Amino acid sequence: MSALPKFNAYINGKFEASTSGQYFETFNPYTAKIWAEVAHCTADDANHAVQAAWTAFTTGEWPKLTATARGALVHKLGDLIRDSARELAEIEVRDNGKLINEMLGQCNYIPNWYWYYGGLADKIEGSVIPIDKAEVFNYTRHEPLGVVACITPWNSPLLLLSFKLAAALAAGNTVVIKPSEFTSVSTLKLMELVEKAGFPPGVVNVITGFGAEVGSALVEHPRVAKVCFTGGTESGALVYQAAAKGLKGCTLELGGKSPNIVFDDAALDDAVKGAISGIFAATGQTCIAGSRLLVQDSIYDEFVGKLVNFAKSARMGDPMDPGTQVGPVTTPPQYEKILKYIAVAKAEGAQCLLGGGPANTPECGDSKWFVQPTIFGGVTNQMRIAQEEVFGPVLSIIRFKTDDEAIDIANDIAFGLAAGVWTQSIKRAIKVSNAIRAGTIWVNTYRAVSYMSPFGGYKKSGLGRENGIEGMREFLQTKSVWISTAADVPNPFVMR
Ligand code: NAD
Repeated sequence: MSALPKFNAYINGKFEASTSGQYFETFNPYTAKIWAEVAHCTADDANHAVQAAWTAFTTGEWPKLTATARGALVHKLGDLIRDSARELAEIEVRDNGKLINEMLGQCNYIPNWYWYYGGLADKIEGSVIPIDKAEVFNYTRHEPLGVVACITPWNSPLLLLSFKLAAALAAGNTVVIKPSEFTSVSTLKLMELVEKAGFPPGVVNVITGFGAEVGSALVEHPRVAKVCFTGGTESGALVYQAAAKGLKGCTLELGGKSPNIVFDDAALDDAVKGAISGIFAATGQTCIAGSRLLVQDSIYDEFVGKLVNFAKSARMGDPMDPGTQVGPVTTPPQYEKILKYIAVAKAEGAQCLLGGGPANTPECGDSKWFVQPTIFGGVTNQMRIAQEEVFGPVLSIIRFKTDDEAIDIANDIAFGLAAGVWTQSIKRAIKVSNAIRAGTIWVNTYRAVSYMSPFGGYKKSGLGRENGIEGMREFLQTKSVWISTAADVPNPFVMR
């Protein structure tokens, strides 16, 4: 029998093995060793979890709670996450290979989602409509949707889950979560805190397993009212089609290929750091990676020289070591995909200015799932390396001459998740920010995210918004209530 820790699904307030009794293995990307086993859930488990969530939505304690009491529970979950931040961060590093500094930062910041939405729970007010009909009182209520499915990717499991979970619960929904098969453990650990906070059984459930099997069964389940999905654009399209068959709402947070634009009046040293954080932080495995760096012709050589010098010094190594700056790639298929794109870029004629292959120095652990920080110059916007999401530490630099040309290049892409603009001119900053078709624009900064500010994609980067008050509205529906105060019911054969 295996001595590895086993993690079970969480359904109706209990940790249980899947109905199949099977487990799948989860790897540490730095050591390439299996470190835990996770319940391999099937469509039967998805059904049980959704039924439990539906029962919790319609009966028992949860629907009877006042919004204030519900908000207090969500807030308490935030407190418990704060107290367990280090443990959760270490699990994330072990499971997905991201840097301990990054994951500690995330796990210490995540409680804010629960505090913010917990506070918002009792501030969502309906309105009394001064209706244009005599002797009628009309008001609106904002009600929860029902059972919400939350499907998350492997790159920032708890952060991306919290974008969804805190708002969905504060709005009064119940939830079934399907984390990535590569990084399920932190989400299951979070369920211990859900239980400790005192959520009634069935309000939050987790089923673990594979997207095409248990993920699609969850999306298709007739009791699921809404799907919140973060992941790749291809799987997002499949999820959207399946949800459409059941006429369900969908929030989709998908891929990106974001332009990071450096103008000739930028503070160059700051812009270098912005370019680095856009592509090498998190080993480039972020949806908001600034993977297309647009640099103005007049500063191109100076800027690219500084950038390559800075990137050369990036320290690869053990993600658990606070001194490490670039960690391993999370999964073997992702490692292969990144190397494939490097080969594509070379074949397309892009000029490799830095890296360009696997990294296998002794600091790179046993897995060897490391890719050298890689920079390609001389890229044109038509090349695949400029148009397709790599999701790794591979930067494409494109040269431009005028502001209009930069805007055209930035927009000439299927994605629209984010963009960076580096300039000292406020006029330029506003003009370019307005012209770029993307859901987030950063001026003289990059990779800033908050629970307060809406986040989401234009074009193929997604639908709907998470975070902020807008993020809460995605989990509510409006009911209009009409009360007659008239003495008689008027003529029933005409519309009132
Ligand atoms: P993925 O699409 O392969 O998987 C995401 C999740 O969806 C996983 O839990 C997976 O099991 C599940 N899934 C896959 N197919 C499914 C199906 N047919 N039905 C239901 N569930 C299904 O993505 P990934 O490789 O885990 O993550 C990387 C991708 O996520 C990148 O493209 C990245 O840009 C994107 N991403 C987007 C954001 C954002 O906010 N826009 C944030 C992080 C990652």
